[in-house]
Amino acid sequence: MSQEQFSPDSVERASGMPMLGLGTWENEDPEQCAESVRSALDMGYRHIDTAQAYGNEESVGEGIAQADVPRKEIFLATKVWKSNLNYDDVIHSTTESLDKLDTGAVDLLYTHWPSGEYDPEDTLPAFEELKDRGAIDRIGVSNFEPEHLDEAREVLDEPIFANQVECHPLLQQEELREYCDDHDIELVAYSPLARGKVFEVDELSEVADKHDASEAQVSLAWLREKGITAIPKATSDDHIADNWASLGVELDDEDVEKIDDIDERERQVDPGFAPW
Ligand code: NAP
Repeated sequence: MSQEQFSPDSVERASGMPMLGLGTWENEDPEQCAESVRSALDMGYRHIDTAQAYGNEESVGEGIAQADVPRKEIFLATKVWKSNLNYDDVIHSTTESLDKLDTGAVDLLYTHWPSGEYDPEDTLPAFEELKDRGAIDRIGVSNFEPEHLDEAREVLDEPIFANQVECHPLLQQEELREYCDDHDIELVAYSPLARGKVFEVDELSEVADKHDASEAQVSLAWLREKGITAIPKATSDDHIADNWASLGVELDDEDVEKIDDIDERERQVDPGFAPW
């Protein structure tokens, strides 16, 4: 399958966020990280996900600078770490993030976790202030459960654009998907390959064999079928290209049903400070 067949337009949502992005957590070697970002952008990716906590915002910025793609065509998201969530630190640390990313503004800024210094009344107005200043285009949250979304929506005058949560065939997030649909919030799937576990699921292997695809591609195609944006992390060109080619994998109703029916539920990201 040729990777050139997918134009960025083919994956861009009306909301302006491309539905397939590149994750960068643990892509920590500066040169490698910049190269993965450059390679993904030159391949067609237009959505890059990073975070203050990944320690790679500078390398992500370098990868963007090295790619043959204008900054304005790229949807760039970063996240404010849980220790930076009081009002002043949100402003200050985001200013630092923009410097590191070498950009005047990010397209989306997330609260990384509703934990640590997170206090809706203090944290969220700082996000609104950054939006007023033009430093961020959209306000996002991450790892929010319905009760955190309820609370945040009460505090914010601006809409919550997206909630980034773990989501894949082994953690299908039915309740959050319904909540986000009802309230016009984009769901962004992190760990969309279940950090590699998708390769061990028989149902996914069966669908993959049927389509001459990889389990990674099947997981990404299933998410796309559900209207969910996915940000698989990949380091090598091979993995970056394999995930990009998921855009050519069309699941039929039988495939989708088979994946919907997977009973196993396995969360991969579950730190002690998680709110659940
Ligand atoms: P993931 O994307 O589910 O899986 C990444 C793993 O799969 C890596 O080991 C990668 O290896 C491998 N891989 C990627 N494509 C592959 C392919 N086509 N074939 C075989 N193996 C492949 O896990 P993740 O990194 O946890 O999640 C993705 C992104 O979501 C993160 O990078 C980060 O940007 C974001 N995230 C956010 C949060 C949050 O709290 N908001 C939490 C977790 C993750 P290589 O690296 O060697 O290619």
